[in-house]
Amino acid sequence: MASVCDKCAISTSSAHAGRNRQIWSDSGCMQRSAGLRAIATRLAAAQGGAISRDQLVRTLGWSAATIRTQLDAQRWQQLLHGVYSVTTGEPSITCLWCAAHLCRGESSALTGESALQAWGVSKPMLPVELWVPSTSSARTVGITIRRSVIVPQIRRPPGLPPAVVPQLALLIVAERLGVTEAAALVSSCCQKGLVSPLQIEDAMQGQRIRHRQAIVEVLAEFRSGATTPLEIAGSRRILKAHGLPMGEGQVRSEIAGRPVVRDRVVHGLIIEFDGRLGHADPRGRFRDLSRDNQTMLLGMPTLRFGWTDVHQQPCAAADQVHLALAQLGFPATLRPCSPNCACTNLPAGARSDRTA
Ligand SMILES: [Zn+2]
Repeated sequence: MASVCDKCAISTSSAHAGRNRQIWSDSGCMQRSAGLRAIATRLAAAQGGAISRDQLVRTLGWSAATIRTQLDAQRWQQLLHGVYSVTTGEPSITCLWCAAHLCRGESSALTGESALQAWGVSKPMLPVELWVPSTSSARTVGITIRRSVIVPQIRRPPGLPPAVVPQLALLIVAERLGVTEAAALVSSCCQKGLVSPLQIEDAMQGQRIRHRQAIVEVLAEFRSGATTPLEIAGSRRILKAHGLPMGEGQVRSEIAGRPVVRDRVVHGLIIEFDGRLGHADPRGRFRDLSRDNQTMLLGMPTLRFGWTDVHQQPCAAADQVHLALAQLGFPATLRPCSPNCACTNLPAGARSDRTA
């Protein structure tokens, strides 16, 4: 039986025998070994630095002994069963994503948090979450495996292994979140232009979706012009939850000849939702104050709400909107947002009506 050289992976009966014996001296063998490593490294470079045993053996013709030599010499490291990194440094997240895909085969794809990270929604981190067909094994050490009978829609982000499409990945992750976080995730994905409200609605069709109502509301508000998670949450928690008029979102107007876009205008009351981004710049802050002063002189007051108002004190904010609308001549009736609503201007009996 022909044996295989453990340096260069070539059969000793062909490369090292007969008239080639002198050519395949030890130094020639070393060169061949380095050449083989270079080919493997090039293939691995397109896979984040990972390469599988299957690729080495079937595609590049390596022997088990040659692979063992790389590991024993500590040129390579084993990442998962049958998958190696062609370096010994800390593997990148891309390397680990590719390794997981190589380990579980062509039909596998990143899913859940890992898919969202691969699509650029959130910061990459471990563990790697991988979808595999329901007929596959449910366990691979080092990977969080998700199985399903239905094959999800899959695409390949540039330079990365295949991943569940963003609209499905966000619905998978939203299942595990609270309603506020789920709504924020949906609006964040829409805001980044990764998915359209229509794509999310299509993905929801015929599925049992936790937080369906909240997600549908976010999509409706996104379509109506809201553009940031804070704006969407503010419209829901301050206005809608308290039965206040919603007015119009993303209203374009001019101040001193300059175009401005208002988050929301309700009967002449301007409501702005100030996220930390964009308003942290002191020049932006002064510009906002200047606009507020100018529109005030035109009879259009401005109320500004930040993260704390929206998420921790929505009832106090609703009281302010209610009062401002009354002063503008558009009295509204406040509705308690919950049995524990902290609004101070609720009509008599409103709270008991809600809890009855
Ligand atoms: Zn309330």
